[in-house]
Amino acid sequence: MQDVNYDQIFDSAIDRLHEEGRYRVFIDILRNKGAYPNARCFHGHNGPKPITVWCSNDYLAMGQHDKVIGAMEEALHDVGAGSGGTRNIGGNTHLHVELEHELADLHGKEGALLFTSGYVSNDATLSTLGKLLPGCVIFSDELNHASMIAGIRNSGCEKRIYRHNDTRHLEELLAAEDAETPKVIAFESVYSMEGDTAPVHAICDLAEKYNALTYIDEVHAVGMYGARGGGISERDNAAHRIDIIEGTLGKAFGVMGGYITAEKRIIDCIRSYAPGFIFTTSLSPVLVAGVLASVKHLKGSSVERRAQQAAAAMLKLKLAEAGLPVMDSTTHIVPLMVGDPVHAKKISDILLAEYGVYVQPINFPTVPRGTERLRFTPGPHHTEEMMDELTQALVEIWDRLDLSLREAA
Ligand SMILES: *Cc1c(COP(=O)(O)O)cnc(C)c1O
Repeated sequence: MQDVNYDQIFDSAIDRLHEEGRYRVFIDILRNKGAYPNARCFHGHNGPKPITVWCSNDYLAMGQHDKVIGAMEEALHDVGAGSGGTRNIGGNTHLHVELEHELADLHGKEGALLFTSGYVSNDATLSTLGKLLPGCVIFSDELNHASMIAGIRNSGCEKRIYRHNDTRHLEELLAAEDAETPKVIAFESVYSMEGDTAPVHAICDLAEKYNALTYIDEVHAVGMYGARGGGISERDNAAHRIDIIEGTLGKAFGVMGGYITAEKRIIDCIRSYAPGFIFTTSLSPVLVAGVLASVKHLKGSSVERRAQQAAAAMLKLKLAEAGLPVMDSTTHIVPLMVGDPVHAKKISDILLAEYGVYVQPINFPTVPRGTERLRFTPGPHHTEEMMDELTQALVEIWDRLDLSLREAA
């Protein structure tokens, strides 16, 4: 009998990625404290080189904010580095309790539950929900994030995928199920690769009509939308209509972690049944202290939100005026369609090597094949001068690679 050739299996898995032009190269950087979007890049041989970061999800630069850094320093010296345990066994620090109160209040819910990441919060919550509801069917937007897809798969439930933001299709699928079947509609508020938003009220109307629970991923909206940073559900005055609101602490809040908020009953169930919550060390209290400072700050300040929106609007306009294929985003996300993984990587490589501009190409499976793109996330500290340099660089590269520009807008 032939032995299994493990090396060959691993090598050919990687070869497939190279052939498709979507082998991932991680860019090696260090951000400069307090000076974001400036960073150092360790790519190449000549030591670190200064770059401008255009693809970070630290959307509001809160990861560099004095209050956040100060709170983390203070916590480190007060309580030490780690939590030392799971929430049930020694790791339920007072900072965790306080942050859950703060997050519940942010979304106007009775309770909140912290996880080690947004990914884990989606996976753990959806899989547990699906297991607790007998015969449950989960309705999922086709562009939902991988973490929701994992949770739905791990729930073992039947799932129905509806076309992106298509409430007519969603209704067809809902109407086809028995009235007694438990139903969950899972969707995002801001779709992070398209930059569009869900019709939240229309989805809630359907949930009411067909007696379904609603689950919203507000990862790309918390901190950034609504008067206090409660997300699109706050902005649209819909939070009270949504059963479970999920968010991350690693993007606009600038640190790390994930959470859900909901009524006490649901929080109690997930807390008690979700393995991804139960069997893992709780977040470091140092991280939790940083998040607390960040959430509190953004509840009271709209300066960062307004500056981010202004920066995004300005960049979209500049790219469009230059004839670059900027996608039709209604949010702070600025995607530039390339449509091919090899070109997307090439443009990104040239930007970094020749212009000191860092933007990661976005490939399958993050986006569908044939829709490969560059995704820019301008924030409060990206200046007009940086935007002009970026636009000029892109136009030069488009020309060099013989890509077509639109008629100038
Ligand atoms: C990034 C992301 C997550 C995961 O959040 P992390 O805190 O980074 O694990 C979940 N949902 C969406 C839509 C995301 O983009």
